[in-house]
Amino acid sequence: MRGTRRTVLKAAAAAVAGGSVLGAVDAAGAHSKPPMDWVAADASNYTDADRESDYDVRWFVVHVAEGSYEGTIAWFQDPDANGSTHYVVENDDPADATRMVAEEDVAWHAGNWGYNAHSLGLEHEGYTDETAFTDALYEKSARIAQWAGETYGFPLRVRRYDVAPCDPTDGAGGVIGHDRIPDPDDCDSGGGAGAHTDPGSTWNWGRYEGYLRRNHLDVWDSVVTDADLSVRDGPGTYYSRVDVAPEGTSGTVIDGPVDNDGYRWYEVAYDDGVANGWSAAPWVPYSRFDVWQDATTRVDLSVRDAPSTTADRVDVAPEGTTGTVVDGPVDNDGYRWFELDYDGAATGWSAGYYLD
Ligand SMILES: [Zn+2]
Repeated sequence: MRGTRRTVLKAAAAAVAGGSVLGAVDAAGAHSKPPMDWVAADASNYTDADRESDYDVRWFVVHVAEGSYEGTIAWFQDPDANGSTHYVVENDDPADATRMVAEEDVAWHAGNWGYNAHSLGLEHEGYTDETAFTDALYEKSARIAQWAGETYGFPLRVRRYDVAPCDPTDGAGGVIGHDRIPDPDDCDSGGGAGAHTDPGSTWNWGRYEGYLRRNHLDVWDSVVTDADLSVRDGPGTYYSRVDVAPEGTSGTVIDGPVDNDGYRWYEVAYDDGVANGWSAAPWVPYSRFDVWQDATTRVDLSVRDAPSTTADRVDVAPEGTTGTVVDGPVDNDGYRWFELDYDGAATGWSAGYYLD
């Protein structure tokens, strides 16, 4: 049975890899399930269930494995592990992924039974606060989360800052770090039982959310190009090219989506003097801010002279300070950075994670 299932999944993976472009959508705008290997976790490491008839899936929990890809997969096959995960993603380029527990079953990963029952868990190869994650890992993981959100109907939004509610069915759910799962014995504390802190300081939520919301943009959302990208006068590859937006150009969505030519298209008002026009969604990931947009600090926030946690701190913008984004985003040191012209603080670079 297990061998048969693995064979089927492998065959599907080959077909997808051969025929489709990253992020392509079908006529309805939906994504296929990302190709993954199948290696079953030991049956003593998870709970047989019948989701979603018994528990609905509304959370997607992001972990760092504290180990290698191969070591993590081997560990969850060990009957002594007393834990498991639905997915493991490799920190490499390209990044492989392995599925270890079926979505209908409850994996033990969050240190909180209620959250386990209502979530999918994904372990990333690496070590909390240490590992530099590859772009391929972010993309692969976010594609799995996106497929899960489309399939189970939870929002493709990252829950930032606060610990999630005690009751996992309180609210719509979303994508969340293990560090924001409540401790079952003390709901104000995060990290589940044992106060886990993954995914930690080297995990770039801004970059992850960009991929998570690829093809799921709303008008007035900010975006940033992921490649030197054609800007066309209509939503299709046969429309004339009016400009090229260099990689890293920010902009604002002003129309769309239109599904055509195997892609989802959005019309973007680009910054940096690039002409407005239609671009293919796989290369315009979401970004929280674009140039000339206002932002407000959520905490007393460092203002630095370059987009790095080790750059000189030129000021601290107190919580509630507003400013105008004048440059960025730049992904570095585990954050997505924006340069802001603050009201009442020096102009400089701040971590977007702490901006609303
Ligand atoms: Zn974890």
